[in-house]
Amino acid sequence: MNALGLCIFSCLVVTRHCVPLPTPPGGGQDEAMAATYLAKFYDLKTEMSPRIHGGISPLGLKLMEMQKFFGLEVTGVVDSNTLEVMKKPRCGVPDVERYTTFPGNLKWPTNKLTYRIVNYTPDLPASEVDRAIENALQVWARVTPLQFTCLTNKTADIMIFFARGEHGDGYPFDGPHRTLAHAFAPSPGIGGDAHFDEDETFTSQSSTGYNLFLVAAHEFGHALGLSHSKDPGALMYPVYSYMDPDRFSLPQDDIRGIQSLYGPNSDVTSNIPTSTNSTPPTTLSACDHDIVFDAVTTLQGSRLFFKGRFMWRLYAQSSRPELSFIKDLWPDIYNNIDAAYESLRTDSLFIFKGQKVWAFSGSKIVSGYPKTLSSLGLPTWVKKITAALYDRDSGKVLLITNSIYYCYDELKKAMDKGYPKLLMMGFPGVQSHITSAFQYNGFMYLLSGPTMYEYNYRNKMLLRILKPNYFLSC
Ligand SMILES: [Zn+2]
Ligand SMILES: [Zn+2]
Repeated sequence: MNALGLCIFSCLVVTRHCVPLPTPPGGGQDEAMAATYLAKFYDLKTEMSPRIHGGISPLGLKLMEMQKFFGLEVTGVVDSNTLEVMKKPRCGVPDVERYTTFPGNLKWPTNKLTYRIVNYTPDLPASEVDRAIENALQVWARVTPLQFTCLTNKTADIMIFFARGEHGDGYPFDGPHRTLAHAFAPSPGIGGDAHFDEDETFTSQSSTGYNLFLVAAHEFGHALGLSHSKDPGALMYPVYSYMDPDRFSLPQDDIRGIQSLYGPNSDVTSNIPTSTNSTPPTTLSACDHDIVFDAVTTLQGSRLFFKGRFMWRLYAQSSRPELSFIKDLWPDIYNNIDAAYESLRTDSLFIFKGQKVWAFSGSKIVSGYPKTLSSLGLPTWVKKITAALYDRDSGKVLLITNSIYYCYDELKKAMDKGYPKLLMMGFPGVQSHITSAFQYNGFMYLLSGPTMYEYNYRNKMLLRILKPNYFLSC
């Protein structure tokens, strides 16, 4: 991570080239939207001639840069996956370091900084705004020697305000969604200031709207000198993603970034992360050798591998999984699911978490859900399902909880008689404690921690023992 320098001059230059944008010749609405996005976040100069460089247009080159940043397939064209990322709510600060005005890292020359909340959003009581801002600054203070003092008048290092549209800095906000906020790198004047788009609905507790604490904590990263991270699990990733603020713990990538500027906090007692985890979270790679997926399921020909807030989606024709947040597809479920299966009979996806099960048709919750596990006919002592699998041959659903399993009949809406059975009875050769399961190409795959069993259920035959990420071309 490098420091980001945004001086007023470069902002104005960027904005001048940024609006209005002509629709590229032969291009439609999507290309125009992509061009606006790339001008704003990737320094695409719209006055560039449409001259082709080595067969690729300036827009194509910037698209490739953006696709690389987000770990998308680098196609250089405006494809649906790229558009999807461009439509996500995000921070207004660019992703390219070309905007850096001064060489080297930008940081404050002192560890004692002041901040002032210039105005308040009507979305929340003032006391909740105060708390969200203070907590967001503490995220950074906890791991560095930085100390923040609140001022109620005069000019502070970090001036914080809510505004909509054009608000005097050459970076107009854009109405609801898309750009949520922006902040300026350390320097006198506007440097360090953080602005929040009043056209958003900021919240303090629920997962709806945009959580002010999370948005502010990200913006203060910029205010202290950090630029955007490519790590999707990092707080400094440019795209907004919800997580429970009460369990928030600054990810390792951000700690590394901020400590490279200011060093660690010498007061060890305040160094302890806030969440129940004792180590700061790092973003997993699907290729980690000891990865344990929370759940795996098929979905309309693709396969989904769930872990924490993330999921990797592997399309049938592709060997390259795409990483996204669970919340992007199912806003009602955002992390740590227990199990999932795709019902071919009802064309819906079932997701289990704790004692509840959700049914989704596309991204929408099927009416009547979530339901309790006991409403499916499971005994009340079953506190969670660890794996679920839809058997295409029988149309039945196997619901596994550690080393036993039930067989659910969707048509009768009841459990089959004769269950639960011990897994080792139904699947000779498979060890217990199954953590996820799915059926693909006629085979059943049962995952037990970092081991995946490939099973022929008809012949009751264990075929292979594989790594869980065997399909993810690691
Ligand atoms: Zn940002
Ligand atoms: Zn602004």
